[in-house]
Amino acid sequence: MSQFRIDFLEEYTPESIVDEVRRIEMITKTGTITQKDIKDYGRISVSPIYKHFASLGEVAEKAGLRPHRKVGDTTKEDIIDELRRISGVIRGRPLKRSDIEQHSNISYYKIISQFRSLGRAARAAGLTPHKSTKHDRDDLLTILIDLWNQTLEKEGRRPYTTDLKKYVCGISQCTYSRSFGSWKKALKEAYDYVTEKDIIDDLPSETQKEFVLSPQAKPKIESSTGPPRSVERKHISIRKRFFVFKRDHFSCVICGRSGVGVKLELDHRVPISKRGTDDLDNLQTLCFECNRGKRDSLE
Ligand SMILES: [Zn+2]
Repeated sequence: MSQFRIDFLEEYTPESIVDEVRRIEMITKTGTITQKDIKDYGRISVSPIYKHFASLGEVAEKAGLRPHRKVGDTTKEDIIDELRRISGVIRGRPLKRSDIEQHSNISYYKIISQFRSLGRAARAAGLTPHKSTKHDRDDLLTILIDLWNQTLEKEGRRPYTTDLKKYVCGISQCTYSRSFGSWKKALKEAYDYVTEKDIIDDLPSETQKEFVLSPQAKPKIESSTGPPRSVERKHISIRKRFFVFKRDHFSCVICGRSGVGVKLELDHRVPISKRGTDDLDNLQTLCFECNRGKRDSLE
């Protein structure tokens, strides 16, 4: 098929990539560029782009587009950009958890929930991770809590060892058995790990909203005359989500159902759109059905 040949760019220079991104945007007319756009319409693949640019956001900027972002969503690319920025701040020495906590606008949990460990994230960003390649205990517990949230939300139950393969790549049941004695003991420890006090201590980092996107971390100049900012969806941490499920005994507060097949969701009693907050007393556990019923009655 000769068409295929014509469709592919001969050479990848930064300029040709920027041109290509502009061309794709003329098709999508979204004002931004995503990996999917490139896959769907591009005459290049995504990988050569990363040879010349730190992120898709950077190419977008060069092409006069805005970086792609879903409100409240932190993508792997965002994290990679942010890690590279921090690496600059700490002058390239190996990245540690404390560096993230001190310098990052993205929470540590967000990073390990996307990459499973800081080491992996650092390697994905082409940086040197700090020596210890082993996941430490906190990381393992956090991953387990994240997994627990997911199995509650998708299947209404606690995680089984087989869920590790299903939802978490790269960590085996053996890792948990070795560190905690058994899978059950790991679950027990994860359950005890999340306390209300913990959540309250967490608050400063939870109030963070959108982080700075650019690799150079330009100071954001807020213009008071600009258009009002849209409702910002604050990030509810893994631990906070889990705490609410745990506090509500892993069951729907309206109908009381729980267990396998009863998908649970975190609900704002007073919706964010009606100025509800992410405070613990405004959060509750609802089953999928009750949550839909509630939404209908509000409309
Ligand atoms: Zn219910």
